[in-house]
Amino acid sequence: MTDFLDCDIAETRELLKKKELTSVELTTFYLDRIKEHDVELASYLRTTEELAMQMAQEADRRIAMGEDQPLLGVPLGIKDILCTKGVETTCASQILKGFVPPYDATVIGRLKGSGFVHLGRLNMDEFAMGSSTENSSFQVTKNPWDTTRIPGGSSGGSAAAVAAGLCSAALGTDTGGSIRQPAGLCSVVGMKPTYGRVSRYGLIAFASSLDQIGPVTRNVRDCATILRVICGHDPLDSTSIPEPVPDYLASLGREIQGMRIGLPKEYFIEGMDRDVKESVEQSVKILERNGAAIVPVSLPHSEYAVAVYYIICTAEASSNLARYDGVKYGMRVGGKDIIQMYKKTRSAGFGSEVKRRIILGTYVLSSGYYDAYYRKAGQVRTLIRQDFDKAFERCDLIVTPVSPTTAFKIGERTEDPLTMYLSDILTIPVNLAGLPAISVPCGFDATGLPIGMQIIGKPLDESTILQAAFVVEQEIGLNKIPERFRSRGYQS
Ligand code: GLN
Repeated sequence: MTDFLDCDIAETRELLKKKELTSVELTTFYLDRIKEHDVELASYLRTTEELAMQMAQEADRRIAMGEDQPLLGVPLGIKDILCTKGVETTCASQILKGFVPPYDATVIGRLKGSGFVHLGRLNMDEFAMGSSTENSSFQVTKNPWDTTRIPGGSSGGSAAAVAAGLCSAALGTDTGGSIRQPAGLCSVVGMKPTYGRVSRYGLIAFASSLDQIGPVTRNVRDCATILRVICGHDPLDSTSIPEPVPDYLASLGREIQGMRIGLPKEYFIEGMDRDVKESVEQSVKILERNGAAIVPVSLPHSEYAVAVYYIICTAEASSNLARYDGVKYGMRVGGKDIIQMYKKTRSAGFGSEVKRRIILGTYVLSSGYYDAYYRKAGQVRTLIRQDFDKAFERCDLIVTPVSPTTAFKIGERTEDPLTMYLSDILTIPVNLAGLPAISVPCGFDATGLPIGMQIIGKPLDESTILQAAFVVEQEIGLNKIPERFRSRGYQS
């Protein structure tokens, strides 16, 4: 007897291949679960039931013909920031309500090539700006481990849906921590690949020099599987790296004997929850017991990362979001002339956090301030990256907590943007440096809330990250679905 809920992607694929299960059955199973549980969780903005059933039927046909693809017939949820042909894509913003892209993002094209089933669109902070998913214009997603708490953000819908077993896996995006932080707070695996490793073509841009797409999964093996499908060069994205994609699965199960793990003293900061610190330290011991050597490293300029990030990301956002003016996309509010139409559309269409960032970004780019803020931030960004370069001369991976605290209460930080911004203090430097990093579950605090450990790698070295994350996961084995979301299991 196999309960689908406990199957990872490879196991699901085995059942599909052996014809013990069809993709139509599996898709129906997930759609039913979403109906049952998502009223409470609100992780999906919309399901795409009809499309899902069509894709599942098509997958079953391909399976019957003997085709074998890593995601053939596997139902995934998609963060509502990835353009999908014929499917409403809103970025959780009023301004894009009703926007139906005429083309697929490259990642969606790649998933389709591999035969995935599109279950629905996952909630997020509006335009991916936030750390709690409370900035969605449409709904507040809950943390499956405690529904009075946030799931993290901005890919909160992705993390909550995967954690509660409302899809096999999901895609998210990460500009300053938006995959890793919600993954950590919901006890799932989330990876931000190296900048340029996954094409951003068709990803609705927030901060183009930082944005990356990545998997949110139940375990490390699924993460490797999806990564293999979505990575690779794309001529449609000028920042895409033309390097071959390794077989990420091959690094799982390899020994880590002799691997050097760097621990940056600046990342075990004051104000951090004690349980978070202890749990990450325990996991470092696991790596050590498996033969890794621990080396202290220093990343002194990370102290400035949050300040630098909020100059760079707001500047880029103010420019990227200039296109939403009521002319081409989504919402339009009419006015007596075109200027008034712009004003009314943008006033009504954007939420308050997005407006705050557009205003900040316009300010730091304006003449007279550009040198003081934007240029300066770029220089400090280089120093942050150089710190990592230096640290990586002494180690192969760097380990830190993902987030200084476990999931906070809904509403707790909404009135205080600065405290909210500080939620990402440990993930933001990685985006500024363009490095790959994973969040892997490493324990629970005294009240039962999940804790994530961050493993950062050298550019394009996702394989070594996965190798170490797999070792931790094997010993901790935490990829369970919370008990209250286990009802209506389906067995084959
Ligand atoms: N929480 C960060 C922000 O608000 C990061 C968001 C993200 O990675 N998309 O900008």
